[in-house]
Amino acid sequence: MRDLIEKWSGESLVVSYDQPTGTWIFIAIHSTVLGRATGGCRMRVYETPDEGMLDAMRLAEGMTYKWAAIGYEIGGGKSVLAIPGPMDPPVREGLLRRFGRLIESLQGTYATGEDLGTTPEDMAIVAEETHWVHGSRSDASRAVDPGPYTARGVFVGIKSALRAVYGSDEITGRTVLIQGVGDVGEPLARSLREAGAEIMICDLDEALARRVASELDGEAVVPHLAYARTCDVFAPCAVGATLNRETIPQLHCRIVAGSANNQLRDPEDAELLHKRGILYAPDYVINAGGAIALPAIDSGKVTDDEVWNRVNRIEAKLDEIFREAAADGESPVLAAKKLVERVLAEHAKG
Ligand code: NAD
Repeated sequence: MRDLIEKWSGESLVVSYDQPTGTWIFIAIHSTVLGRATGGCRMRVYETPDEGMLDAMRLAEGMTYKWAAIGYEIGGGKSVLAIPGPMDPPVREGLLRRFGRLIESLQGTYATGEDLGTTPEDMAIVAEETHWVHGSRSDASRAVDPGPYTARGVFVGIKSALRAVYGSDEITGRTVLIQGVGDVGEPLARSLREAGAEIMICDLDEALARRVASELDGEAVVPHLAYARTCDVFAPCAVGATLNRETIPQLHCRIVAGSANNQLRDPEDAELLHKRGILYAPDYVINAGGAIALPAIDSGKVTDDEVWNRVNRIEAKLDEIFREAAADGESPVLAAKKLVERVLAEHAKG
């Protein structure tokens, strides 16, 4: 653990062990240069607490990049609840309440929200203990699901990528393979189908994949065979690190554009994709829809139309990144990184 913390570029890390549930709680505050560190709470089982901590640190850094890339004065943070296994609802509620009190003790340095493994209903419980929750109300029935907003961001991001690669953002007739049809992947699949795309779906839950595929006249694909299927767009909407030196050589697509956080296992994977002529939409930009929508909805001052308009601006941001990448002959990951560094440096100058 010590080694990981010493190497991390973030500002601070809060570590707490929740005795009643045997859960390790990590709150990673990567950067407050642009404002309060803000990012969701992931709840899952990890092989070791170190893995949970590393996930929190990497995800928090991703949030710094995300906020800066989309031009928001918000800092990067993320939390992980590394649980030992499934919990009964009252036990889970206790954990969420203690997590909420821990966040409250940070006095506004970090604000949380839903992420993989947590639900709007969970966030409603956390919100009873702290002010610093996005996408929730103490009335759980009013909790906001970020999935459809994230899906919209990915949808418009795919249009931007299609324009960059094919010179046209026409979706009709394009084939999109969606890896993971959960909160984001399913609405994305539906909107792409409505726009005329041919859909292929893979999910570890193969019954779910078959159901969604049949509803959309699409095809369910066995997960480990998905990478090699010919398609225009491969959309990773499941978990991180599915793109790596084993899977990238298998790809038969022109574009990788999806919602998953940390899609690339290693930084060099961006270069591998670039060399193969596959356009990659940087994950922290294309998946920012939920992050854009939730604070706006929370403020209570933004109309629904304006929330969707803000999410739609992801398309123009990716246009800019793809243009810069093409002009410099480099990967979009590098172009996005330069954009973020410009934003952070300008802000630091005041
Ligand atoms: P989810 O848990 O609702 O759905 C994920 C789906 O992926 C599940 O159906 C699961 O069975 C499937 N899956 C897991 N591993 C897989 C694999 N190796 N191959 C195929 N399928 C697999 O999650 P979600 O909320 O839809 O989020 C999906 C991804 O997008 C995550 O990486 C998340 O961090 C990221 N993301 C989500 C949001 C959001 O608004 N929910 C916002 C930003 C980023």
